[in-house]
Amino acid sequence: MPALRSRKKSRLKIPKLDYFWVAAGAILGVLLLEALYLGYNYYQSTKEYRSFSEKNNQKKLLSLSPAPLPAKLQQQLQQTKENKITEYRVPILMFHYVENVADKGDKTRISLNVNPYTFEQEIKTLVAAGYTFLTNSQLTDSMDGKMPLPEKPILLTFDDGYQDFYTDVFPILKKYKVKATAYVISGFLNFNNEMTTSELKEVAASGLVEIGAHTVHHVWLKKISLTKASFEIFQSRVTLQQITGQPVVSFAYPYGAFDDQAIQVVKDAGFSSAVSTMPGDDQSAINRYFLFRLRPGGRTGQVLLNWLNQTKF
Ligand SMILES: [Zn+2]
Repeated sequence: MPALRSRKKSRLKIPKLDYFWVAAGAILGVLLLEALYLGYNYYQSTKEYRSFSEKNNQKKLLSLSPAPLPAKLQQQLQQTKENKITEYRVPILMFHYVENVADKGDKTRISLNVNPYTFEQEIKTLVAAGYTFLTNSQLTDSMDGKMPLPEKPILLTFDDGYQDFYTDVFPILKKYKVKATAYVISGFLNFNNEMTTSELKEVAASGLVEIGAHTVHHVWLKKISLTKASFEIFQSRVTLQQITGQPVVSFAYPYGAFDDQAIQVVKDAGFSSAVSTMPGDDQSAINRYFLFRLRPGGRTGQVLLNWLNQTKF
């Protein structure tokens, strides 16, 4: 009897053990798949970070001619005057770096840079000439009839959210109490040479600077998948709104690259306007999602004012 009992016991034990190993194996398998899945996602999400090189970004910016306009939009634009669509002459000045470039041999950075002294002279010139500085959303508010457009409107826009925006530009904006719009790459905050989250919060809370979005990873938005474009455009808005606690309604295309799809996604994401790198100062409902901008470079004083007063850019 005792022998039989023990045999029974052992017979019962074996299947129990099998279940155990099967269950354990299944759980381990699921965990392994989960780990692989998370690892793959992490790899994908950081690929952009790893491939981003500020140097390459600068070179690309300099070598690019403004994105050619999709034919359909070009046609619409030509019809602007015939259709009597209201056009506003509003210069939107575009800046990248405003700093004393430490490496004098860094020709690329220098060519994208306006030194802080010159930048201050530009602001002084514009203030003395009676220009009114608007944020990008104030411009669209005017276009929507929500506020009158001031006599001599002008916009200052800064791309990429570089650290020098906080250290060099922001103090000058505060000194002259002038407004500006900064287009920030949400996924690059706290990176070397980029603004930190707390600096961004301070800038956004100043009441002088509107924070606009510039995608999550500074991607080329032309001819890319809808999924990728949607993530880059929607998510940058969500992240920046969470950090600043303010609505983010203005957008800038990295490298000035866009197509019909990019415009549609920017609209769908809830942005009220987008800036391009195409030169000009005629803004209208037609180019509301590819507003024209101007690079003032190192122009100051009367040279700057004459340049702004020309009719063709
Ligand atoms: Zn950029």
